[in-house]
Amino acid sequence: MPESLLGRLLARLRPSGNGTDSADAVRKLEQKFSQLDKKLDLLTKRNQDDRLILRRVAELLERGVPAAGDTTEGSEAPPPPPIRPSSREDWVELTACPVCGETASTLISEYNRFLLADDVPDESSKVYNYSLCHGCGIVYAARRPVGRRFRELLAGFHENLGRVGRPSAWLNPGALSEGERQHIRNLAKPGSLVSEHTGTTDKAWMPGALSDRLATAPHVVLLSSLLTLDKPRVLEVRSRSGAILDALRRMWGASVYALAIFESQQEVVRALYGIPADALIDFENFQIPYEGAFDLVVSNHMLTHSVRPGHYLDTIAAALAPGGHLYLYNEMDEAEFLGETRSMFSVFNPFHLQIFSPLSLTRALAARGFEVIFLGHSDRIHMICLARKAAPAQSTMPKGELKKRARQYTAARDLSILALPEHRRSAFAAEWDQVVERAVLSGMATVDARGRIQFSGARRKAKDSEEDTHV
Ligand SMILES: [Zn+2]
Repeated sequence: MPESLLGRLLARLRPSGNGTDSADAVRKLEQKFSQLDKKLDLLTKRNQDDRLILRRVAELLERGVPAAGDTTEGSEAPPPPPIRPSSREDWVELTACPVCGETASTLISEYNRFLLADDVPDESSKVYNYSLCHGCGIVYAARRPVGRRFRELLAGFHENLGRVGRPSAWLNPGALSEGERQHIRNLAKPGSLVSEHTGTTDKAWMPGALSDRLATAPHVVLLSSLLTLDKPRVLEVRSRSGAILDALRRMWGASVYALAIFESQQEVVRALYGIPADALIDFENFQIPYEGAFDLVVSNHMLTHSVRPGHYLDTIAAALAPGGHLYLYNEMDEAEFLGETRSMFSVFNPFHLQIFSPLSLTRALAARGFEVIFLGHSDRIHMICLARKAAPAQSTMPKGELKKRARQYTAARDLSILALPEHRRSAFAAEWDQVVERAVLSGMATVDARGRIQFSGARRKAKDSEEDTHV
């Protein structure tokens, strides 16, 4: 094919009789090239391997350009750190629930969101074998990256979530240069409450610091409504800017400490509020680098991400004073995909190792010694929960609840498979007909005369490229 196309193009280039003809030929030639370009684009898109190779080549070329100290907005993002091919020790296969220890489970999805991505670290990184625990009822990745592999994924975290461009100051996962640290300190100097009437330009402070105060204010309101504490010791795990801790310090005279996920956030918390943020979070071997008991631990979106969630909860329980409290926010509710609007593959981002329902979160916390005293949602899919340190209590999900959720998960998986773009369906070729049959019989989908899948009304799945707002 390429030869005959090339032959036709060459024929166009041969000299012809007059000027009009040759201008015409050039125009047609340009048209042909444009069509050829589009075909190449399409081919490249369809061929993941080629894209990966091109990407790697681009990275190698970019790596020659020093990026340190460059914080200019809109500049090229530095290339993500390379992820080496994985080996067996890069993965653990869980044979029991990582929170309650129950060994019985139901596989509800083999794949994570890498199934939908063009650039993935490797084929094996797509498989997490998400399983529904028959004990506490959480959903957990039964296959998960550990050690070097997990750290490399995290280092390319922005990239691995499919974001493009330069990460923001809050979510820059890389190591900071002294220049970048100084830049954050300079921006933090005016504080988080810069009034617009002073005429200060946005480039002279951190407008995101005010946004974060406003965004986290509901947690301060809730904590002050549920608890009355006098000069408590408070730790926040995964602080964004330190806004919650600063508010608790003002409200209760609290002594506050933070743990951040990236150096960028560590620098922001220290510079904006002068709050100690002495270590970065270790998602595998979580540790609290502060001596003494805490009265309250505030935890942002951590159970969802923990590589060892049982160990995470045990470490917090050990650091809490008797009767101390754990406040969790941004823990993911499975309603995000059981609630029919999103493909579960797009929800299962490769950093989400646990997903909950309100009842399964309650049982999971109880298993590790936390009695829930309040559980609610900050929006449809993000849960907030206050629990008190107590004696561990195991409980098993009632049979009816297990049956219902297993059924919902089968339906969600079927719809997620049917919503896949054609070029990503090959992983499900063997069961495709059964999936279609189940979806049609249950009334979730119909098939038109040309074999195309139509989803019934509101159950239509969102596009797989939909942006994920929680990381
Ligand atoms: Zn469990």
